[in-house]
Amino acid sequence: MYDNNNIFAKILRKEIPCKKVYENEHSLFFYDINPQAKIHVLGIPKVSCIDLTDFIKKSDPKIISSFFKSVNLVIDKLDLNESGFRIISNSGKDGGQEVPHFHVHILGGEKIGRLN
Ligand code: 5GP
Repeated sequence: MYDNNNIFAKILRKEIPCKKVYENEHSLFFYDINPQAKIHVLGIPKVSCIDLTDFIKKSDPKIISSFFKSVNLVIDKLDLNESGFRIISNSGKDGGQEVPHFHVHILGGEKIGRLN
């Protein structure tokens, strides 16, 4: 079940500040507090969803499309298209997810190492 008190829910309610990169009616993008690359941005939809599969299951296709179009827009805004980037979305225990609100990590600005 979705936990309304997770950190990203608090960020969406503006109870906790964030360093915003982009926001529209469906999503918010902000810098990760503990960056794992020169550029490390998190993107979250404004839907109470735990992970990617929960987001896809419970959201209108227009909201899903809007979120991923915003991911594209942020990649452009960060000027990562030419140099490249990595997108990660962790889910659950085995995926190493810490914050139980669906988010994508956008990593770039330098060569990102292999995961294994
Ligand atoms: P996960 O492990 O759930 O995929 O990633 C959670 C991410 O959220 C981590 O990279 C962590 O650094 C980031 N994070 C945790 N708390 C905060 C916070 O209060 N503000 C911001 N901007 N990032 C956070």
